[in-house]
This record gives sequence, structure tokens and C-alpha cells, in this order.
Amino acid sequence: MDLDFQKMPDQLVPAIVQDAATGQVLMLGYFNAEAWVKTQAEGRVTFFSRSKQRLWTKGETSGHYLQVESLHIDCDQDTVLVRAHPAGPTCHRGTTSCFDAELATTVAPVAAGSGVVVGAGSPAPAVGFLAELDQLIERRRQFPAEEPGSYTVRLFEKGLARIAQKVGEEAVETVIDAMAGNKAGLAGEAADLVYHLLVLLRASGSSLDEMLAVLRQRHQTIGAGQRRPLPD
Ligand code: AMP
Ligand code: ZN
Ligand code: ZN
Ligand code: ZN
Repeated sequence: MDLDFQKMPDQLVPAIVQDAATGQVLMLGYFNAEAWVKTQAEGRVTFFSRSKQRLWTKGETSGHYLQVESLHIDCDQDTVLVRAHPAGPTCHRGTTSCFDAELATTVAPVAAGSGVVVGAGSPAPAVGFLAELDQLIERRRQFPAEEPGSYTVRLFEKGLARIAQKVGEEAVETVIDAMAGNKAGLAGEAADLVYHLLVLLRASGSSLDEMLAVLRQRHQTIGAGQRRPLPD
């Protein structure tokens, strides 16, 4: 089933753009039929701009294109979820997302005291933040000159053996805090462990994505009723 442009005002279908790596909501745009076809043909997002009244390829002047990972049509064919890789800040004001807290307006909670927090900002979901951290680590690896004094840059300079040793140390510290019931210390050591593990993966030519693909595949296998033995 393709999009149903006819039922929409001005034949424009709204599209939510989400960062494919972090899950963060980046912006909202509108497709007309021509923009929709062009986006699929080119693999980068083109919208119909309501203010410009013409096709608008996001990034056409800034260079901050949105490379399409996948396009998802909703249940009744009148909304699109675009999962994309942004080449730079998506908001024309220079922030990652049009919903970033510094710029977006905070509105009062609809029902005060309902426990619903209505606020500005579309932070990456908690786990998506790992992808953000992984991207920063990879950036430090590829462009050390950007941040010469950074801890991550220095780690990469020390090399694989030192990074591997750090992962071992942090794993031991994590285990010690867990066994001692030191809940506050545990979160910190686990954070150290995960960070150094991300660095180790990148230093070894692997990545968080490759690791997640393995986890996902195991999950699917289990879903199909084929239980695998627990690792020892
Ligand atoms: P760009 O498409 O990034 O080259 O930006 C060109 C122009 O499009 C900007 O000057 C804005 O007028 C508009 N624009 C860019 N990004 C956005 C956005 N996320 N939301 C709305 N308008 C945008
Ligand atoms: Zn719908
Ligand atoms: Zn914006
Ligand atoms: Zn530690």
C-alpha cells in the first residue's frame, strides 16, 4: 500500500524524521507525491516546503543531508516515519534536532499534577545514547586532531593492549561492587566498563552495531523457540 495523498489537505503527508542510530526525533516535514518519489529514488530526504512552495532537499544549502535508512508508512497510509542518518545538525538553527531543549518552546502540562511531563526537547532514548557515545568515540579515533587532549584520543594512542587491559580492570571493579552490594559504585563502574568496551570494539575494527546485530539475532532465534544454552 502506498501513501494516500488524496485524503490529505493540499495532498501533503507529514513525515517524522528519526535518527536511525540513536532513535532521536529530528524534525517534521511534508511529502507531496513528487517529493516522495524523489526521496526513494535518491535515498536522501526531499520534502515539499510549505514556506518555499517548492521541492526542498534537506541539506541543499547547508550540506546537512538526511541519508535514508528506511521509510515506514503508518497504519492508514497518511503519515511516514523516516529513519535517516543526518550528515550534520538537522535544525537550520544548528542543533541536532528541531526539538532540542534550547530552542523548542516548553508548554505547560495539560493536566497539572497528572504526572505527565510536557516539555521541550527530544533527547535520544536512553539506549540510543549509547549509539551517540559510540559515534563520538569513532570520531575521536578518526579525527584525533579535533580534540588532542581528550581521554578517548589518548586511549587510542596507547593502543589495543592498554584498552583491553582497561576493559578487564573495569569488569573486575564492576564485579567487586556488585558482590559488595555497593549500588552507587556499581553504576559508575558499569559505565566505565561499557565506555571502555565501546572503545575496544572500535579499536578492534568492530562496533556497537555489530554487537547489537549479534544480540538481535540471538533474540530472534529464541523467539523462534530454539533456546540456546546460557553462556558459561
Ligand atoms: P538546508 O536544507 O539545511 O540546506 O537549509 C536550507 C533552508 O531550509 C534553511 O535556511 C531553512 O529555511 C530551511 N530549513 C533547514 N532545515 C530545516 C528544518 N529542520 N526545519 C525547517 N526548515 C529548515
Ligand atoms: Zn495515519
Ligand atoms: Zn529546526
Ligand atoms: Zn572504574
